[in-house]
Amino acid sequence: MRLVWFRNDLRLSDNPALRHGCASDEPVAALFIISPTQWRQHKMAPIRQRFILAQVDALGRELAALGIQLHLLRVETFAEVPAALTDLCRELGVSQLYANQAIELDEQRRDHAVTAALAEQEVGCHWLNGCCVLPPGRVLTGGREMFKVFTPFSRAWLKALDEDGFVIHRAPAPRGEPLPWQPLAERAFVDAALGETTPDPRWPVGEAEALRRLHAFLEQGVLDYGETRDFPALAGTSVLSPYLAAGIVSPRQCVAALQQRLGGRPQSKAQPGFVWLNELIWREFYRHLLVLIPTLSMNRPFKPETAALPWSWDPDAFAAWCEGRTGYPIVDAAMRCLNATGWMHNRLRMIVASFLTKDLHIHWRLGEDYFMSRLIDGDLAANNGGWQWAAGTGADAAPYFRVFNPTTQGQRFDPQGDFIRTWVSELADLPATYVHQPHDWLRLKGRQDYPAPMVDHAVARVRAIEMFRDLEKT
Ligand SMILES: Cc1cc2nc3c(=O)[nH]c(=O)nc-3n(C[C@H](O)[C@H](O)[C@H](O)COP(=O)(O)OP(=O)(O)OC[C@H]3O[C@@H](n4cnc5c(N)ncnc54)[C@H](O)[C@@H]3O)c2cc1C
Repeated sequence: MRLVWFRNDLRLSDNPALRHGCASDEPVAALFIISPTQWRQHKMAPIRQRFILAQVDALGRELAALGIQLHLLRVETFAEVPAALTDLCRELGVSQLYANQAIELDEQRRDHAVTAALAEQEVGCHWLNGCCVLPPGRVLTGGREMFKVFTPFSRAWLKALDEDGFVIHRAPAPRGEPLPWQPLAERAFVDAALGETTPDPRWPVGEAEALRRLHAFLEQGVLDYGETRDFPALAGTSVLSPYLAAGIVSPRQCVAALQQRLGGRPQSKAQPGFVWLNELIWREFYRHLLVLIPTLSMNRPFKPETAALPWSWDPDAFAAWCEGRTGYPIVDAAMRCLNATGWMHNRLRMIVASFLTKDLHIHWRLGEDYFMSRLIDGDLAANNGGWQWAAGTGADAAPYFRVFNPTTQGQRFDPQGDFIRTWVSELADLPATYVHQPHDWLRLKGRQDYPAPMVDHAVARVRAIEMFRDLEKT
């Protein structure tokens, strides 16, 4: 018997582990492990848990239709996984285990422990690359090191892609009679472990849904992406991140579909589709970094010297940011959108991350954790990369003297204030002229329902620059 262990790769098609697991006539079983305490320790958002479990349910049904039984195991933490897997392998008579490589440190340590435990039972483990287009370690500098800056990484990545090419694996053919599948909703242990598990209707699951979104975006959105991607009031991006983070669609499927749509790989920024491909390369950059620089998984800054920055941990200021009560309309709209939907536009992630770290001088780790606890697409590599970029502590980070001005960012990227009016009800009736700086208007109308700016951006900006300058002096 062969066992395919699903993790962040909840799909049948283009799944190297499933493909290799099904490459012989031996019987195949599948596995997903629920680890509620570990998920909580990793700050996994409840909305993301529900999304993942709904997809596991869909996957289990599809696997059953192919004659493959998906087993569900529940353990509290990763530490219990090797023993639980050993027992399951013994019970099912498993001789080979197949899984796609994890990139996070805790997950990698778990997988090493699994390899060692199963080796004692003579079960072979096969770890494949299913989460990146090119496997971490493939794209290195001439000195065989990981790139620390994005642009040369991106150039080398494109060259490697052209050299290696890639194949898209089809979903496996049926391996026997369809099997019954008991829906997760009927399994008491899932609810008992996680509390609320009803899927959020705003985020439908399923590979077909992910591919529908991909192809809908590629029809026109990708051609306009260079112009529209920074405007949160427009549907200018793919919103595929929850599906990529859970592995419902693979990054290779995205690149292959892009190439098919454009009749080849876009070669330069001037060509349609290149800017979107570049965002997929940012995803790869952060994933490769996470694997090659393990300290990133340990709450440490990429630039070690920035560990000495005197960040604030002010709980009241942090709470105002989390709840969207900063008095800066674009920041508040973005945070309220995140809290309500579990998703935030990339431009807004940059604005609110800059505000927390450079205007409130609060440690990026608090922001990183809060995002993780709310995002449906929470992903350690992209989230840590994004936060460290904004805080000025990361790889290819924004230079410390370039501090986003939250008011002009709002004026530039939400010029009519449509996004702000959608999410900040206190400002819903404000004309575009005042919506980014509403306080004079509100005062004239005698209204006190929207908070005053919690900091003066000009003063806060100087303080942020000083923090970094002082660091250089030491
Ligand atoms: C502070 C901060 C935190 C972030 N946290 C996360 C996170 O937890 N999970 C996450 O998936 N992305 C994160 N991002 C990256 C980015 O904001 C989201 O991937 C993007 O907004 C998702 O929207 P989309 O699917 O419409 O992206 P599109 O613009 O359509 O891009 C396609 C895909 O490329 C990838 N991508 C795009 N931009 C980036 C980027 N800057 N870095 C890495 N990958 C990227 C995503 O997988 C995305 O789905 C973060 C960015 C910042 C600045």
